[in-house]
Order: sequence, then structure tokens, then C-alpha cells
Amino acid sequence: MEQLAIFGGTPVRDTKISYGRQCIEQDDIDAVVATLKSSALTCGPKINELEKALCDVTGAKYAVAVSNGTAALHIAAMAAGIKEGDEVIVSPITFAASANCVLYCGGTPVFADIDPETYNISPSSIRKCITEKTKAIVAVDFTGQAVELDEIREICKEHNLLLIEDAAHSIGTKYNGKPIGSIADMTTFSFHPVKTVTAGEGGAVMTNDEGLYRRLLRLRSHGITRNQDEMVHATDDPWYNEQVELGYNYRMTDFQAALLISQLKKLPAFSARRKEIVTMYEKGFADVPEIQIQREIPESDTTRHLYVLRLHLEMLTCTRREFFDALAAENIQSQVHYLPVYRHSHYENLGYPKGLCPNAEKYYEESMSLPLYYLLKDEDIADVIKAVKKVIAYYRK
Ligand SMILES: *Cc1c(COP(=O)(O)O)cnc(C)c1O
Repeated sequence: MEQLAIFGGTPVRDTKISYGRQCIEQDDIDAVVATLKSSALTCGPKINELEKALCDVTGAKYAVAVSNGTAALHIAAMAAGIKEGDEVIVSPITFAASANCVLYCGGTPVFADIDPETYNISPSSIRKCITEKTKAIVAVDFTGQAVELDEIREICKEHNLLLIEDAAHSIGTKYNGKPIGSIADMTTFSFHPVKTVTAGEGGAVMTNDEGLYRRLLRLRSHGITRNQDEMVHATDDPWYNEQVELGYNYRMTDFQAALLISQLKKLPAFSARRKEIVTMYEKGFADVPEIQIQREIPESDTTRHLYVLRLHLEMLTCTRREFFDALAAENIQSQVHYLPVYRHSHYENLGYPKGLCPNAEKYYEESMSLPLYYLLKDEDIADVIKAVKKVIAYYRK
């Protein structure tokens, strides 16, 4: 058996591969520079152009570009009317922001367990969490795979709930042929550099509802409006604007918008390459019984943001930490997504107990995300597969 690099053997490769990385090309740079030379650095024409491009890509009626994905979730939760005393059902396997947006509004996140095979929030556990206080669901398309939107929307209809889809992972994914962004009451995106397309920092909320759209626009900029029909003290003074509620400065700059417009043109290519890489991993791991392949629901045509390596640890002599370290020594840097949100000490202090979502906790113990991004070459993927198999062979029972 080959000696692992962590014990002095030769690593599978001599340069490190990280789990994610952006692709910025000369045309992206040119787009940013051109905007920097223009008269508007913020609140300018690139924001409208970006919002139109996001509507074109997703098929949604309205887009509100904001400073990051967390801001998008925050104003979506505000527009949903979440306030103290309200409960919002959230997936535990996600970045904390998916639940924090409920806390920002004074609401209570209620964690529904995941499906043990797709890792997305399970509709049957959503049903068990519904009470008379439930107002909304934040459903996360984890790894890029769409949640079971038909069934979740049905639940929303039955119980009069709003659906916020956290699509930070899933731009480019389709559900039953429809692009993510046009299906839920509000869909939020993140354009952080690790996501499929980037603005440096950036986010957006998509909706088909004009009322929600107007509210989101206002919340993005301090709660201030220039529309007379939204004012209490409407006047036709040309300078007049009125703050009608408490909002924030969550605006995106025009040069970030310019970068994202350029990136969105490449979404089809980014998406196709990510699909190819996932196929290579799945082929590579098909004959490895220690690996559980993520189940895809047939409705989701997935642009995968994360490739999860889930181990049957009971078939190995190592811990997840030992596996992670051994892989890193082979120069394959993985990452773990995510600690169940309620296991963060902040949530623990709010009273959420360990054991709340057993499927999520088991998932967390056994998983890590392998490198997945547009710039990876076939040889890089072959190295990752080789390294994973090498570590498994070493620790096989
Ligand atoms: C990245 C991410 C966010 C937050 O987006 P930011 O742009 O970093 O604020 C929210 N939810 C999920 C699932 C994410 O992956």
C-alpha cells in the first residue's frame, strides 16, 4: 500500500488545490475599469443593467441587487414581514446567514431536518415544524441542487406561508426546466468569490411580486422612497424624498455590477464545466463503497456549487479529521459545509439543543467538500480522485 504524505510518503501532487476559486478574465477586468472611468461609481446605470441581466437569466420579473447575499436574505425576511413572535422554518445545513436573517428581524428560526440522501431540507420534517406562529420558510438549495419546490410550495399554500429560497449555491440550476430565481416568492443570491459567479461581494433578491419588489428597493436604501404613492407627506418638490420605514444601506457599487454582468455572460460555460467535474467525480467514486454519492432529485438540473465527499466512516479506521488532514497533506484542500447552524455557540446560547436534527448532525460528522470550480483541469480532478482513493485504501477496514 502507498504511504500517505502525512506519514512521509510522496503527495499525489506538489501544488495545493483549494476547494473553490473565482475565474476573473481580461474582459471582466476591462468591464470594471471602464465603469471606474465613468461618472457613476454607485447608483448608476450598471445596477439597472445588472438587474435586467439577472431577470433574463432567471426568468423572474424583478431583481434588486444588493451588497451581499446576507443583505439579500435580511431584506427578504423584512419584506416577508417577519417580526418578533414569528417562526420561520430553516434548513440546518447551511451558512449561518440563512437563519441569522430571521434573528435580525426578531423572529425565531425553527430547524427542520434534512433528507439523509439529498442533504436538502425535507418536506416531511418541514410539516412537523409548522405551528400557528409559522410565517415563512427559508429553503436552501444546498450544493446547488434545488429543494423539492413543488412540495414545499404546496405546504406554503396550505399554511399561508411565504417561501424565501436561499439560492446562494444554485444560480444556473433549473427545476422542472424553470431557472432558479423565478419560482419562490423571493429568491436570494450571493456573489461572493467562492460562488459560481462573483461581484467580489454582492447579492440579489428576485421576485415576481410588485409589492415585494417595491419594498425591497426601499429597504436596500434606508427605507427612503421617491415614489409619491409610498409617502405619508407626498409633495411634488423635486428634491423631496421620504423615509417611510427603517432600512439600510445595502447598495452594490456600479463597478461590482459591471463585474457581475460580465460574469453572468459566462454562466453557461461555468455551469457546463461544473457539471462535467461532478460527472468525473461520480464516475471516479462509483466503485468505492466507502463513499456515499449525493442523491439528485430528477426535477433538479443542477449547477453544482459544492461537491460533497460523504464517507461511510464505519467502514474506515480513521476519523473525519484524520481523513481531512491526510487529504490536505496530499495537497488537496477540502472544506466542511456546514456545522448545523444551531450547533454554533450563539444558537446554543439561544437554547437550541444538540440532537435537534439527527440527519443533519450525522451528515456534518461524515462530510467534506472537494475542489469544484471552473478553472480546474481534468488532470486536477484526476489528482483529487487519486488522492481520495489513496487515503481510503490506507484506512480501509
Ligand atoms: C454564501 C452564502 C450566504 C451569504 O452570502 P454572502 O454574500 O457571503 O453574504 C448565504 N447563504 C448561503 C447558503 C451561502 O452559501
